[in-house]
Amino acid sequence: MKTVAFGVDQPHGQFQRMDIERREVGDNDVLIDIQYCGICHSDIHTANDEWGGAVYPVVPGHEIVGIVKETGKNVTKYKKGDRVGVGCMVDSCRTCDECKNGNEHYCDNTVFTYNSPDSKLGGMTYGGYSGEIVVDKDFVLNIPENLDFAGTAPLLCAGITTYSPLRFWNIKDGDRVAVAGLGGLGHMGVKLAKAMGAEVTVFTTSPSKVDEAKRLGATNVVISKDRQELKKHRGEYDFILDTIPAVHDLNLYLSLLKPEGALVLVGLPEKGSSYNVFAGALVGGRKTLAGSNIGGIRETQEMLDFCGKHNITADIEMIKPDEINKAYDRVIKSDVKYRFVIDMKNAKN
Ligand code: NAP
Ligand code: ZN
Ligand code: ZN
Repeated sequence: MKTVAFGVDQPHGQFQRMDIERREVGDNDVLIDIQYCGICHSDIHTANDEWGGAVYPVVPGHEIVGIVKETGKNVTKYKKGDRVGVGCMVDSCRTCDECKNGNEHYCDNTVFTYNSPDSKLGGMTYGGYSGEIVVDKDFVLNIPENLDFAGTAPLLCAGITTYSPLRFWNIKDGDRVAVAGLGGLGHMGVKLAKAMGAEVTVFTTSPSKVDEAKRLGATNVVISKDRQELKKHRGEYDFILDTIPAVHDLNLYLSLLKPEGALVLVGLPEKGSSYNVFAGALVGGRKTLAGSNIGGIRETQEMLDFCGKHNITADIEMIKPDEINKAYDRVIKSDVKYRFVIDMKNAKN
């Protein structure tokens, strides 16, 4: 079946309206009428082929919420009219150890929501900048009733990507957590770390975000453009969640950790970038430098339920599909407060 989509046919191209094909609804499938889709910086990296491997046209979007329109005969968990979400993955092998342990994102055969070989329809997958999507029931998430629908979309990537490392490193009451970069991921990191009981500091290059960071839950804000300002906070943090999408000085950030603290990268600079890390920056205080990538389906549902319980959604700026290019330019300039969400509901005719 055909559905409308918004995609680019070359790096730095203009988003254009196009028709794409979705598979017929199979026995295990859920057909979702997409209502809102967040714009993740990963969409921009991919659309502009900054990581390599983009196959055009690219239709990004992995922060999807919508209404169930139809279900296959094996689907009992969802019914027509339900509010559901889809994140960064739409399938995996289901049989490897990682899949069995709920880590579908570590599977060798994960099918990502866009720009990934489509195991069912052939070609590449197309994401949520589109009217409808057909997804296997096991990769569909349930959205808590109390959460604002559009503000929930960014939880499907920015939410799980920040929740998962905070949980893995067992962030709890009284921990001192810093979040570097106050964009889509960063602002979710602040809200989630705060809800887990941490005292949160934001490192931002944007003086205009200081008051906002406090409103979002930060106790302290450091303007990170000035290395001297950062250096004043040497040895203060148990955990730093680093969402910066460009190469930066990790030795400086490692120096801000307490002994045995962890600096966890979730930001992914362009292909070919590398970091220069001094052994002494790690060895001195038995520090950890790690990375973290999204989270599995079970943990994504846990994150959504946690957000339901604490009434956490993203702070969003809603746009129409013809404003995607403008939104990309603003995200690249760090002029985002704090996630653009595309209204797909009104974009279908
Ligand atoms: P975003 O909304 O653009 O936020 C990034 C923020 O980082 C900016 O708003 C800015 O915040 C700061 N920043 C930007 N350029 C910087 C620079 N050169 N130096 C220092 N700070 C800078 O992006 P996002 O959607 O949150 O994504 C962030 C990164 O995570 C991207 O690389 C994305 O691809 C990646 N990502 C990874 C995963 C994963 O699973 N690991 C998942 C999703 C996204 P301030 O204005 O506060 O400085
Ligand atoms: Zn993302
Ligand atoms: Zn697998």
